[in-house]
Amino acid sequence: MAGDEFALIERYFRGLTPARADVHTGIGDDAAVLDVPPGHELVVSTDTLVAGVHFPVSTPPADIGWKSLAVNLSDLAAMGAEPRWVTLALTLSGADDEFLGPFCRGFADCAAPQGVALVGGDLTRGPLSITVQIMGTVPAGMALLRSGARAGDAIWVTGELGGAALGLVMVQGRHGGAVDDDCVQRLNRPVPRVQAGLALRGQATACIDISDGLLTDLGHVLRASEVGARVELARLPLAPAVAALAVASQRWPLALGGGDDYELCFTAPAGADESVCAALKASGIGATCIGAVTAGSGAQWIGDDGRAVDFGPATGYQHF
Ligand code: ADP
Ligand code: MG
Repeated sequence: MAGDEFALIERYFRGLTPARADVHTGIGDDAAVLDVPPGHELVVSTDTLVAGVHFPVSTPPADIGWKSLAVNLSDLAAMGAEPRWVTLALTLSGADDEFLGPFCRGFADCAAPQGVALVGGDLTRGPLSITVQIMGTVPAGMALLRSGARAGDAIWVTGELGGAALGLVMVQGRHGGAVDDDCVQRLNRPVPRVQAGLALRGQATACIDISDGLLTDLGHVLRASEVGARVELARLPLAPAVAALAVASQRWPLALGGGDDYELCFTAPAGADESVCAALKASGIGATCIGAVTAGSGAQWIGDDGRAVDFGPATGYQHF
């Protein structure tokens, strides 16, 4: 390791996040040594954010720091896992204080309330790219999978949809109206639904986080579970600025096709509404029942007139 790299790690990354008793050895050795509690399974996920692909190049560095961790926490939330540790691989065009200072603050602001510890990483030079690996645990056998939905289950989503996608349209200057701060906040500072994921252990039959839009992500659950779905468009919880759009046809691409909301979509047995709501209430996150799982395949999106609306194939964002 070069001397200046060592200095950067000491300055920016050591001590950035809360200390944890289950970190035997963290930043500073060749690898981290971590305690997995007995009777638990390790749950691991990684996500890369590339400038110009996952966020506009104009995104404030503090928001990039927040979001790079938030999207990973969201994956663990979808598994019902308790987040514990993260590593951070950063590729930077230069060791620039104006970027690293706020980036680290945003990252730390997202880590602190969840109590996750940064236990290692890597620094390289090149076009801006951020890879976070997150590790957490579930009691053995309790992870929420995409494959557990059964015909008759109710389909739920947490929070509200479409706000982040509208925020993106706004910051890209493709929206006629004014930039709405709430939408930009939803885009740049998504709040990972970790506590909801934990509350849904033993309640949800399947779960996914909505990173690519409900059309695509519900499709993943349906395929993995080998079932279909009937969703009522009128029941979809929309972000206020999306609900306020005058033309309904403008709402659905944002609420269903737009990504980046990082809400959870989950299924639970019919008739379990009360226990789902009670479990979620303690987590402080609301959820809305939007439809039901059916036998068969694919989702039917039912409009106000009771007829199915065809949104075409759900492609989500295609990198390749
Ligand atoms: P090595 O050459 O053995 O891979 P490095 O020089 O890459 O070690 O890193 C030295 C230590 O600093 C390691 O513990 C590594 O995990 C940690 N580290 C490097 N970059 C980061 C970072 N961006 N965030 C947190 N820890 C980091
Ligand atoms: Mg290394």
